[in-house]
Amino acid sequence: MRILVIGSGGREHALCWAIAASPLVEKLYCAPGNAGIADDAECVPIGVMDTAGITDFAKKEKIDLVVVGPEAPLVAGLVDALEAEGIAAFGPSAAAAALEGSKGFMKDLCAREGIPTAAYRRFTDTEAARAYIAARGAPIVVKADGLAAGKGVVVAATVAEAERAVDDAFSGKFGAAGAEIVVEEFLAGEEASFFALCDGTHALPLAAAQDHKRVGDGDTGPNTGGMGAYSPCEAVTPEIEAYVMEHIILPTLRAMARDGRPFKGVLFAGLMLTSEGPKLIEFNCRFGDPECQALMMRLQSDIVPALLATRDGVLNRVDLRWYDQSSICVVMAANGYPDDPQRGTEIRGLEAAGAEPDVKVFHAGTKRDGARILADGGRVLGVTATGPDLSAARDRAYRAVDRIVWPGGFFRRDIGNRGPR
Ligand code: AMP
Repeated sequence: MRILVIGSGGREHALCWAIAASPLVEKLYCAPGNAGIADDAECVPIGVMDTAGITDFAKKEKIDLVVVGPEAPLVAGLVDALEAEGIAAFGPSAAAAALEGSKGFMKDLCAREGIPTAAYRRFTDTEAARAYIAARGAPIVVKADGLAAGKGVVVAATVAEAERAVDDAFSGKFGAAGAEIVVEEFLAGEEASFFALCDGTHALPLAAAQDHKRVGDGDTGPNTGGMGAYSPCEAVTPEIEAYVMEHIILPTLRAMARDGRPFKGVLFAGLMLTSEGPKLIEFNCRFGDPECQALMMRLQSDIVPALLATRDGVLNRVDLRWYDQSSICVVMAANGYPDDPQRGTEIRGLEAAGAEPDVKVFHAGTKRDGARILADGGRVLGVTATGPDLSAARDRAYRAVDRIVWPGGFFRRDIGNRGPR
């Protein structure tokens, strides 16, 4: 088979690495890819939002399956454009990706279907939003409706902070994504990421994972795309998994199919494990990053038949096996991330790090300059390791991290500390 992966992050490197291991694959491309992906796939310089460029390339190269990693091209309709040209694509249609693309859409669906989630209201004007916040009090959560690269959510400790968040959104801080907002109840508890492959009708749960969103040790500093992740996540017990499938994933699939927007791809439920049971914080319509890096290291089965079955609607015939091991991904980011990451600094020691046992160094924002590897983004590397338990995996990952010589970057020392010791 000839496969094209879309994206350039650690998630896409992990997907390319897993896909390249399949005996079914004859040729693997990635658009646009990065310096590490180039070891597993041929990188082609086409941007993820260049729908026409991607479609033309897929036709010319007779691609059998396009696998779309990031949310922006999914929400913009890349899968629709490819399928309209007769090219099979893994990922939801734009109509189905609205589960991530519009928080208001997702919340209305939950309300209609009785899916457990925070109480909420949607607003398009300041006065009504302020009145609701005053009536509910703090803490309270204010969210831009559309995609805002993870920056559109404010968990406000005070009414004044919530009001500022409303003003920010309506003054255009998030562009069109903030023209509408959702104000919702604050949920307390432990967070977990739950992933399921969905083919429109059937859902196959994948392993659960937990990520670390804050930039600094001890969960301090601003939110990021994710500074590390580990899997499995002990907090997601088999009972919780069964509950999430029955009360969150399957009712969503049924509702989406009924609405004429069947969901195919990865449905990623961000959960809060509250004292009243698991509640949905948000849906994403693709793999999480860095969670995907931790998950792919634990996947024993060939991923390609599962991707095809998801697209073809026959996921009920697929059974995925996982290594009974723990995995952990430690993200290394460029100094200044998340606000203003410094680009162009040299990274050394990558070979020594990758030679550590049971370690894979996934690349995100990197580029090659002759023999040198340079930082070229915010999150730059995902140093990922497996081990018989979380503590062994963590030791291996940090041993590899310590072999990387990169004064221009930083990482958290406490990834996985929330899990079992
Ligand atoms: P989201 O982009 O919706 O996942 O929100 C980003 C982060 O904000 C989540 O991972 C949570 O840590 C936090 N968050 C979002 N909604 C809530 C909520 N209703 N209650 C508490 N924390 C929340």
